[in-house]
Amino acid sequence: MKRVEDSLALRLFAWGLLLVGGGLLILFSYRFPLHVWLPLLFLVPLALLVDSFTFQLAGGVYLSFETVVCLFCALLLGPVIAAWMASIGVLLDELFLLRRGPHVAARSAGMYALMWLVGGLAYQAVGGTFPLMQLEWIDLLRALFLFLVAALVNRTAMGIERLLRGLSLREYLVYIAPRTLLIEIGFVVIGAVMAVTYTRIGPIAVTLLMAVMLLALAMFRQLREVSQKLERRLALLGGLNYVGRLIGASLELDRLLDLVYEGVSNLFDASLLCIALYDPERKELSCQVLYDKNGRHMDQPHEWLSELAAYLVERRELVLARNAEEVGRLPVSPEGAGSSEAPQSVLGVLMMSKGRAVGAIVAQSPRPDAFAQEDQEAMMTLANQAAIALENVRLFREVEQSRGYLRAVLDAVDNALVVTDMSGRVRLINRAVKELFGLSEERALGYPLREVVRHPVLVGLAERIARGEVVGSEVVQMELDDGRALMGYLDPVIDPQRERIGYVIALADVTAIHELSELKSTMIRVASHDLRNPLHLAAGFFRILLDDLPQLSELQKDLAHRVQTNLDTIGRLIDELLNLERVEEAQFTRQEPVDMGAVAQEVVQSQFLRAELKRQRLWVEVEGGPHRVKGNRRMLAQALTNLVDNAIKYTPEGGEIEVRVRSEGKRVFLSVRDTGVGIPPEVQPRIFEQFFRARQPGTEEVSGTGVGLSLVQQIVQQHGGQVWVESEGIPGKGSTFHIALPAL
Ligand code: ADP
Repeated sequence: MKRVEDSLALRLFAWGLLLVGGGLLILFSYRFPLHVWLPLLFLVPLALLVDSFTFQLAGGVYLSFETVVCLFCALLLGPVIAAWMASIGVLLDELFLLRRGPHVAARSAGMYALMWLVGGLAYQAVGGTFPLMQLEWIDLLRALFLFLVAALVNRTAMGIERLLRGLSLREYLVYIAPRTLLIEIGFVVIGAVMAVTYTRIGPIAVTLLMAVMLLALAMFRQLREVSQKLERRLALLGGLNYVGRLIGASLELDRLLDLVYEGVSNLFDASLLCIALYDPERKELSCQVLYDKNGRHMDQPHEWLSELAAYLVERRELVLARNAEEVGRLPVSPEGAGSSEAPQSVLGVLMMSKGRAVGAIVAQSPRPDAFAQEDQEAMMTLANQAAIALENVRLFREVEQSRGYLRAVLDAVDNALVVTDMSGRVRLINRAVKELFGLSEERALGYPLREVVRHPVLVGLAERIARGEVVGSEVVQMELDDGRALMGYLDPVIDPQRERIGYVIALADVTAIHELSELKSTMIRVASHDLRNPLHLAAGFFRILLDDLPQLSELQKDLAHRVQTNLDTIGRLIDELLNLERVEEAQFTRQEPVDMGAVAQEVVQSQFLRAELKRQRLWVEVEGGPHRVKGNRRMLAQALTNLVDNAIKYTPEGGEIEVRVRSEGKRVFLSVRDTGVGIPPEVQPRIFEQFFRARQPGTEEVSGTGVGLSLVQQIVQQHGGQVWVESEGIPGKGSTFHIALPAL
């Protein structure tokens, strides 16, 4: 930012004033005898003392009592000595007390010299005398004339300076100058009374008068300060509350920063405010915004303010500098420190969130004591609220980013994906689903899945999700009107706390596989039928041959046994394949009421011996009953047999197998729990596929075809039910297969 005091015109003006004022003073006074100067030894310190009783009026206007002392001096000792006193006093004040730098001091000294010299001469010109001996109306009017001329010189110089600084002259002439002028006119009476008191009664009377006046002023100022402090505290609290609420409600970074600025400018008298955000990963300030009195000033960094902000964040420090001297002592001091435009007060706090510094707010003011200790606390509260809001903004952006990323990934997937919450409302869909069912996000997101999709299989699935009937992973097959075959995989969505939060349904186009499978089925059917009869014949002839053969050697017996077992295995495979095909073709037409409790007991009885041979404990628990379903008894028994058969196969010797039947609501549940090798979660979705065999350790010796479970699934689905498995995949903890069927 271009600094105003650097302007050459302004400097020329300041030093020109000093030259003219000082020159005139010297011209008028070089012949004065020594004793004339002596009162200055007392008057200059008095002017300095009185000057420290500066008043701040509303609207940032300052009023100093040096007018009273200067007028007193002019009426008592004449214009020249008054001008010397005023200019030396203000020079010392600017240089050593306010530390404003040489240009400002030169301007003030020159201006004061001119004011009181010109004022005093004008006073003499209208018949005014010094020392003032009496206070008739005419004397008072002359004193007033003196003051008005001095005030005119003062306003003219200040006006020119404002113009050179590019500030509004109108504001000064309309608001500031008249207000100070009116109050200072009151001072004229005090100055005149003091001068007359001095000449009539003596210096002690004036000193006493002064002392009483200063005391009264000091008390008045004290009272005002206390009440201002109270008012300010109340305003701070109210303001903080308001700003806090506003800030918390915004999720947009720029808006949030503007709100922080509004909050700060409502609460504090800052001329420049820098909000700097810190990027902990890159270890640098990531964003700096500068505001001046008129709002957002510029996005490019303000060198020393951002340097100070970076320093605060790095060191985790706060700063509060209340005057030019303290500003000069800051770790990073502003350029042009000491000049009239250099900050006289600086306040800097950190924005802390979860113990991390996420940025800093630094405010400056050209006025000393613009910020107090309590302002620092209030600013810290505000900064921390802002930090939380910024954190929210960051999280929101991150979520938005990951959402965008997730969306892109999901859209790139060819499978159609639908994610629902626990109540079955659609939370997410990808491009493939939209294309498959002609959906739009507006008409899908947030609506129940059953209302969004039209396909009966999906509607059924959606209804079960909505009723909370879906327990584990499920696989469904469906066919579209255009003949395409889809395989739907439903899986629960589990959050990091292992809580189920919804479901994901992935639909894969398996038309090609389906066609292959059809082909395979036909081949299997043909091959099985053609193989079954010759195989049975071969097995029969082999048995007859064996019976007719004379005594066999051990080797021959062993070979004959192997032939027999292998023929049996092939026979079983063919039977299972035919069974599967039969079920797929839905060849069981007989539908009858079946009591699943009775079926379970029969199945367990038929498998009992096999379990006994492996020294396993096999039992059935039927809770209440009857547990009636509608269906094909033989097929249902077959499904349960397959599950029990697997449980026996995949459970080592000495294990346990429990079959349980119960009814709940409108459904009959069967479960087969074993203590076997278990099924690792990653293969669980595949075990119901045809010919799939999981080869986990401990099952190498177990023979099988990979058809049993797909048969179970076919049968259960044809009965309108579901089958699923629960297993942690830990050997010894086993698996539990569940079947749920609609109750009759
Ligand atoms: P298989 O003829 O191989 O038993 P299934 O279709 O009946 O074929 O089962 C498929 C796969 O599922 C099996 O190969 C096995 O790995 C696994 N499986 C089925 N039931 C169990 C069980 N109770 N315990 C452990 N694994 C099982």
